[in-house]
Amino acid sequence: SLEKVDVVVIGAGAAGLMCAINAGYRGRSVAVVDMGKKTGRKIIISGGGRCNFTNQHAEPSNYLCSNPHFVKSALSRYTQYDFIDMVERHGVEYHHKTLGQLFCDDSAHNIVDMLLTECDWAGVGIHLQSEVHKVSKTDDGYIVTTNGKDFQCQSLVVASGGLTMPKLGATPIGYKIAEQFGLNVLPTCAALVPFTLHDQDKQRFDGLSGISVDSIVTSEDGTSFRENILFTHRGLSGPAILQISSFWQAGQVVSINLIPDYDLEQRLQDIRQESPQRALKTALSHLLPKRLIERLYDANELPDKPMNQLTHQEYKDIANYFHNWQIKPNGTEGYRTAEVTLGGVDTDELSSKTMESKKAPGLYFIGEVADVTGWLGGYNFQWAWSSGWAAGQVA
Ligand code: FAD
Repeated sequence: SLEKVDVVVIGAGAAGLMCAINAGYRGRSVAVVDMGKKTGRKIIISGGGRCNFTNQHAEPSNYLCSNPHFVKSALSRYTQYDFIDMVERHGVEYHHKTLGQLFCDDSAHNIVDMLLTECDWAGVGIHLQSEVHKVSKTDDGYIVTTNGKDFQCQSLVVASGGLTMPKLGATPIGYKIAEQFGLNVLPTCAALVPFTLHDQDKQRFDGLSGISVDSIVTSEDGTSFRENILFTHRGLSGPAILQISSFWQAGQVVSINLIPDYDLEQRLQDIRQESPQRALKTALSHLLPKRLIERLYDANELPDKPMNQLTHQEYKDIANYFHNWQIKPNGTEGYRTAEVTLGGVDTDELSSKTMESKKAPGLYFIGEVADVTGWLGGYNFQWAWSSGWAAGQVA
């Protein structure tokens, strides 16, 4: 059967629901189609089940995009404060965790419930278990073919997300639609994702799983983040590692300052003054996790001497070792565990004000399917809200 509506939105995730709400309030008839059994599945699992729904400090510099100016318009027209207003109007309790990150007190379900309430008020129709197979052009719009109904619409909004977490229904449909209409799609890869290690490093760090160290992690392009790194049984994770993964390319090294708060050389010299006979290993074990120091000694990476037998050069080398700890990842864990997808629909093809395609009138791309990737910390949802809102004003 064929249903006629003004707007079809592909994807009942963060961006799609936000767009549908705003189009609905403008009096447009809106159908959201999603292959899943539930709406907002990524919202529900996000932020450890509490959804880090935005960041107080969100601004364009927190996003990767081949055109860094592209995000400015939408982010400034629908800001984190606009979203926080909605959260407060719905009585959703939230808290600030760290670095501007806002989380629900209770559960990420609060955010989905809020969006569904708004969809209801805006008269949005939601069609679940409807996988989009095909899109075709008509004289004045589009036909969307799903495994259930078909839909005819004037405006088609693609909010099908990226490729991460295939178990939650990630498909390349958005990229395929873009290509079908002649839009450029930039190569994609997994981001905000843990690193895997080469075999020799896996052995080197065997048994360290669970240890986390407050660090500054720097990629070869000079980008750096200060947060925890976490040793896992598969490799390296933790917020600082996830952040830097977006800036890392295969074959590159990341350097990790394991002691970001003070000059290690100076500290070790002070310790030598007080306790010249103390073993370097003992001194280091008080400054860093003991298990890590033990592993590094097992791997013969540090001199096994008392403090008063170390040369000046050795002091310098040891300090440099910990301030510039070099790791060459083998790769990343990939789309299976990544939080986001880098790349996607080239933003040069889209209006930064409305997200409409320049080549195909009435066709919009919002959220993660576009080549916009936020840092870890609520920035990706903010992009979904802002871009969804922008398209919802006009679609
Ligand atoms: P999605 O939310 O991915 O929605 C796309 C929808 O399209 C899906 O429901 C999918 O079923 C549907 N779809 C795809 N193909 C088809 C098809 N062929 N037919 C029909 N429907 C289709 N970001 C933050 O800002 N804060 C966080 O705390 C956070 N935590 C995260 C935790 C995890 C584990 C993951 C994986 C991601 C997290 N993110 C977080 C990132 C954030 O979830 C995404 O950036 C955001 O969900 C993107 O929204 P979207 O609407 O563009 O796409």
